[in-house]
Amino acid sequence: MKLRCIECGREYPPEDTRTGCDCGGLLEVELEIPPVSREMFDARLGMLDHPLRSGVWRYRELMPAFPDDAIVSKPEGNTNLYHDQRLSDFAGTEVWFKHEGENPTGSFKDRGMTVGVSHARWTGATMVACASTGNTSASVAAYAATAGIPSVVFIPEGKISAAKLGQTIAYGTTIIQVRGDFDAAMRMVREATSRYGIYLLNSLNPFRLEGQKSIVLESLQQLRWQVPDWIVIPGGNLGNTSALGKALREAVAAGLIDEMPRIAVSQAAGAAPFYRAWQTGFEAYEPVAAETIASAIRIGDPVNYTKARRAILDTEGTVTAVDDDAIMAAKAMVDRVGIGCEPASAAGLAGIRRLVTEGVIQPGERVLTYLTGHLLKDTEASADYYITRGGAYPTVIDPTLEALDRAIADLL
Ligand SMILES: *Cc1c(COP(=O)(O)O)cnc(C)c1O
Ligand SMILES: [Zn+2]
Repeated sequence: MKLRCIECGREYPPEDTRTGCDCGGLLEVELEIPPVSREMFDARLGMLDHPLRSGVWRYRELMPAFPDDAIVSKPEGNTNLYHDQRLSDFAGTEVWFKHEGENPTGSFKDRGMTVGVSHARWTGATMVACASTGNTSASVAAYAATAGIPSVVFIPEGKISAAKLGQTIAYGTTIIQVRGDFDAAMRMVREATSRYGIYLLNSLNPFRLEGQKSIVLESLQQLRWQVPDWIVIPGGNLGNTSALGKALREAVAAGLIDEMPRIAVSQAAGAAPFYRAWQTGFEAYEPVAAETIASAIRIGDPVNYTKARRAILDTEGTVTAVDDDAIMAAKAMVDRVGIGCEPASAAGLAGIRRLVTEGVIQPGERVLTYLTGHLLKDTEASADYYITRGGAYPTVIDPTLEALDRAIADLL
């Protein structure tokens, strides 16, 4: 196991806690993957013991090699895969939903965090930090608390949902609110980590991305190793996109799958620097000032741009963008069939619908998407959409039979 720069190829030892090369390039974990098989991973399903019971560490041979006692696992993963004909009809093709909101802190970030915090513990980190739109901070706070390592999180003031803020506070972390947006908080945490040697847990951290590879590995296993035609995911800081690309390259090299699905990234139209760069054939990249209701992807300068670009190019993928109305309409569909997700998660389904309409995804092609976060992560956005815009006011009645009759009569 070693770290390698994706730009200049320079190598660093795995104990190094740097999150970038001296040349400015992003680092990637390079693993020595022993022979593996589908049968071997299938035989581990339902295991009860640490660490293989985790939906991340089940794929241990494709994860960084740490001793069992260094691994900080809650355990994460083992999330459900949903298929609902009403959602496929809405999308215009067959869609499977991997619900990452079913992780311990309610988002896929836990899959990266188990590996990131294990690396932090293995390297003797005395404090860990991140910048966050809310889900990363909740995950860092929970995993750092599990490991007994103090943590500090940087959030954009007034720009994260009350649920995410409350959750992060509850796990017992130090919160620094930055007057600015996520990208400003990201700059502050990078300064803090380089000036004070604090361990950084954003998706710049290559170990975190290793854990996030397990989302697609577990999905493929749940699909009985049948490769879908497309995987469509919401894109913010583009860590997930990067992890997905690496996981697919490794899964093909290890013989777990024969071919790669195509990757499509779906961004919120008000926070779509990756989409704009893709429109130029990745010739030009410009950060943007981000604005969208989908706060988890309200990111204007994604740190993993170069890795994500590679994932799109490697898989003949594509990038799209969807406006807030399309995101909320898709979320309402996911909610109303009883699955539920936070707004950012629905950018995937909204993106699929757009790509089918444009003929990029053909009707009948099989599509996998990730529901990245839990419905309860952003109840303000839900309440605003359903009550204010949708007119779905809860009925209030007096506790009398007349009032009951009137209220029920309206429903029959
Ligand atoms: C973090 C997050 C995203 C964005 O993932 P990236 O890896 O930053 O692109 C999307 N949805 C939710 C709910 C998230 O928490
Ligand atoms: Zn380099």
